[in-house]
Amino acid sequence: MYDVWKNALAEIEQQLSPANFSTWFQDTNLISNEDGNIIIGVKNTFYVKQLRNRYLDIITTALKNNDIDVKNIEFEVQTKVKSKVRPREITKNNLTNIGNHIKSIRKSTITPPQNGLNQKYTLDNFVVGSNNNLAVAAARNIIESPGDRYNPFFLYGGPGLGKTHLVQAIGNELLRRDPSLKVFYTPISHFYSDFIDAIQNGKGKEFNRKFQKLDCLIIDDFQFIVNKEKSQEEFFNIFNDLYQLNKQIIVTSDRLPSQIKTVDERLASRLTWAGAFDLQLPKFEDKCAILRAKAELEDKEIEPEAIEYIAENVNTNIRDLEGEFNTILLMSEVRGLTPLQLIENGSVSVNRTSKLRPATPKQIVEKVAKYYNLTTKEMCGKSRVAHIKTARQVAMYILRKETPLSTNKIASEVGVKDHSTVMHGISKIEKDLKLNFILRDQIEEIKEKIYG
Ligand code: ADP
Ligand code: MG
Repeated sequence: MYDVWKNALAEIEQQLSPANFSTWFQDTNLISNEDGNIIIGVKNTFYVKQLRNRYLDIITTALKNNDIDVKNIEFEVQTKVKSKVRPREITKNNLTNIGNHIKSIRKSTITPPQNGLNQKYTLDNFVVGSNNNLAVAAARNIIESPGDRYNPFFLYGGPGLGKTHLVQAIGNELLRRDPSLKVFYTPISHFYSDFIDAIQNGKGKEFNRKFQKLDCLIIDDFQFIVNKEKSQEEFFNIFNDLYQLNKQIIVTSDRLPSQIKTVDERLASRLTWAGAFDLQLPKFEDKCAILRAKAELEDKEIEPEAIEYIAENVNTNIRDLEGEFNTILLMSEVRGLTPLQLIENGSVSVNRTSKLRPATPKQIVEKVAKYYNLTTKEMCGKSRVAHIKTARQVAMYILRKETPLSTNKIASEVGVKDHSTVMHGISKIEKDLKLNFILRDQIEEIKEKIYG
């Protein structure tokens, strides 16, 4: 019985966001099944209502898919299962623990579908903003015309910024349009272990053939490529074969191939032949748009001020943004207060910023100058020489992004006349960053030097 529920949960999980799954399905179990009359145990009455109203269909289907002839489903509060947390005392820490618990269950239960794709990732629920619009435009182009202009499609960016979501969405959409296509998604680490298994079982050729038949290969988290000559060579061969047949190749990574030490140079350069696209940290407006879209998709009520509060206070990534959003909504339902009321009465306080130690404006200016082999005086002087001017503008840009300084203050830090020069400088860099990968890498390196 336990296994049936475990399998059903694995299936349900495929259809929900991780946060929703962990919120609603943690601590559920199958108490009994008598001729299709199912009783599911839950923690308290609040969950009974939510599961019945919102997830009955999903649960029914998942059970049916596991060969249970469902006639009726009831939810029962299990008083015996001692819940560590009483609902009125739910804290963020508790929720995190619950999340981790679910993650560990999930690890042991998931049987991924054959093609590795998870249908919950779609383009419809991927919010387009200034942080990702170029990558999304390329993704749409690939969907219209796979194997064509953006091949290979190399997508990079920090954790939690939507890489997996976007590339899975491409795969799902390609299949939706043409179910006969062979699309395969795999994290690079699985690619390796499968390859090694195949070799050990004398099935190296079969492994290779399986990949050659694909129309679209999606490799996630390429940064974990290892320096095992043979497996890297195998990947390279498969890459070349597919490429020559004009099959679409999609690769994600947390950084550019040239910055991954273990990767063969030829492979690195080939991966970015068709350019490299990145996902950046969302700006305030992007974050608000993502939260509004989530509220709408999940049919949740949340005040615009509460959305702004969360957006303002989560500065790490979109995964954290979703996490805080779900926490507040859950607390709101449990406590019977609106999200804004919770924020205003101090019950929740969101603060997710990267754990970098703060740097002073002076340190930032010094590091930028040093990076470009200039003295602070040179960089912050009046010179109009191109590379000095660029360095000065980079300093303005980093000061703007990394400190709370006003543009007037930034002007005086970098020795320019007024705030309009600063605004011009910042927007120049922002514009250049869209296409100039070298500049983008430089800024990343400078930041590493500032905080490293
Ligand atoms: P990565 O693979 O870059 O670490 P994910 O693709 O796993 O990041 O994204 C983390 C979470 O944020 C996922 O739940 C994803 O659905 C969500 N997410 C990321 N970007 C967006 C977006 N633009 N719109 C909506 N949800 C997003
Ligand atoms: Mg990912």
